[in-house]
Amino acid sequence: MFDRQHRHIHYLRLSLTSACQMRCTYCRPTVLHKDCHTPLTAADFQQVVERLVSVHGVRKVRLTGGDPTTRPDLISIIEHIAAIKGIDDLAMTTHGLTLASHARAYAAAGLHRVNVSLDTLDSEQFARITGVDAMQRVIDGIDEAIDAGLTPLKINTVVLRDSNEDQLADLVAFAASRSVGIRFIELMPMGPLADQWAKRYISADRMKSLLTENIVDTWEALPQGSDSAQVYQASLRDGSQEDIGFITPMSCHFCDACNRLRLTSDGAIYPCLMDQPRGSFLPALTPEFDGERFDELLEQALAYKAPEHPAQGVGIMTTIGG
Ligand code: SAM
Repeated sequence: MFDRQHRHIHYLRLSLTSACQMRCTYCRPTVLHKDCHTPLTAADFQQVVERLVSVHGVRKVRLTGGDPTTRPDLISIIEHIAAIKGIDDLAMTTHGLTLASHARAYAAAGLHRVNVSLDTLDSEQFARITGVDAMQRVIDGIDEAIDAGLTPLKINTVVLRDSNEDQLADLVAFAASRSVGIRFIELMPMGPLADQWAKRYISADRMKSLLTENIVDTWEALPQGSDSAQVYQASLRDGSQEDIGFITPMSCHFCDACNRLRLTSDGAIYPCLMDQPRGSFLPALTPEFDGERFDELLEQALAYKAPEHPAQGVGIMTTIGG
């Protein structure tokens, strides 16, 4: 499918829930009302994804949230979606708390790979940022996910001023030790947390400078793929080379190349992460799935996909899914 800017939309991000065991200071407002809707079921997600894949050409699907692993029916959701023919990439973004015990079950259900959030390798700092004293559990989860074949695995690190900017070199070394990707993410001003943005934001250029001060000699930009990250091959002072990615929604947005459509667990359609929802698929999720109605709702929502994201996000990250 194409939007009005002729962008090819083929990447669906499904937020399975707003619930998350972590309370990351930059992601989740301290007061967050519980989901008061009945969330879409595994069968609902399957119908939506089936239509988007078979009729509208979606090829990539990512499960996110909240944390998708808080859904008790996650295995069933993965199985329902994995059964759909035509998906090239079925991935999940998670905090990693359940991977040590469940990575094999996710892989067996049909999940291809995971991205895991890890903002620091300092366990006290980890507890301060996330509200959970569980850094080692996440690291064990990353190792188990690699063993279970949920690869290529990528680590996502949101970089915050006066917080984890001292961690970048260690995180690069950690990723290299496991041969996994790492992407440093610029903070986005989202919903009620937007007023903290100016004092916590660090640009990717500043992150690169910090790495240059510590471990990197030279940077060579690699051709940008369909991923939102700008990846560099960095030559390190110890003679090794590592790929380091930066996701730059604020300093250099990649809206021209946006290929995404988002759906939340209440059926709302978000053509843009930072915009408001533009309709809902619920009217099409009747006992007899209404494909024609679904296509109309999709067309109406896509008409609102703006050329560029707004300066500030309207919604809450943990609801829409980053
Ligand atoms: N709970 C899962 C996790 O921890 O990865 C998935 C949901 S989380 C919203 C997805 C990603 O969004 C994480 O990598 C998180 O660090 C990132 N994120 C959250 N708030 C953000 C913000 N304000 N700006 C940029 N990235 C953010």
